[in-house]
Amino acid sequence: MIDKNYLKVLKELGFEEIILDKPILNQKSSNQIDKIEELNKIFEEIKACTKCDLHKNRTNPVLGEGNINAKIMFIGEAPGEEEDKQGRPFVGKAGKLLTKCIENAGHRREEVYIANINKCRPPNNRTPTIEEQEACIPFLLRQIEIINPKVLCLLGATAYRGIFKKEAKITKERGSILELMGKKVYITYHPAYVLRNPKEEEAFCQDIKNVFKLAGE
Ligand code: URA
Repeated sequence: MIDKNYLKVLKELGFEEIILDKPILNQKSSNQIDKIEELNKIFEEIKACTKCDLHKNRTNPVLGEGNINAKIMFIGEAPGEEEDKQGRPFVGKAGKLLTKCIENAGHRREEVYIANINKCRPPNNRTPTIEEQEACIPFLLRQIEIINPKVLCLLGATAYRGIFKKEAKITKERGSILELMGKKVYITYHPAYVLRNPKEEEAFCQDIKNVFKLAGE
């Protein structure tokens, strides 16, 4: 980065222009800026989106958050009350459990990227309808393409249905590893289910550890 004061001194010395033999932004940083710009573009589209009725009752849409170079992307269902208030994914009770399991696995929430099938909160936290899911999923697919994680971790039945377009019993599928868009896809419970069934917490935390292992982390 060229220091502003240095440029000022050069100007005072009479230099009108300087020729750089290398672009200021190297390939890596311009790639990062592209990612941020693309994600911002999606966020602007989500804010203006009226493709389904969920936009009518939301306070804030929730794009997703985390490391834009993450090797792991967690995918949930839709924002709940706290997420709708804050405009951030998984910040309520279920989110605290997810964060706890990430930390138990020896990692930090900031290392991963977290998103949802739906970006707007459904009334009373009901499951989004298939039409509502389908209206929103193109945003998520673009996020996956931009972030380009190695592993997708699907949290619960709605994430599974949204990605694979078929219903599944998560109690049966839990722990399985599938493939999509050249990525490994790990299936586990939704943390809200684990809160209702605390005896599954150990298994859920083990799944989160497995996800990090699968990503080589
Ligand atoms: N449940 C979800 O599926 N996503 C959130 O962001 C919060 C709760």
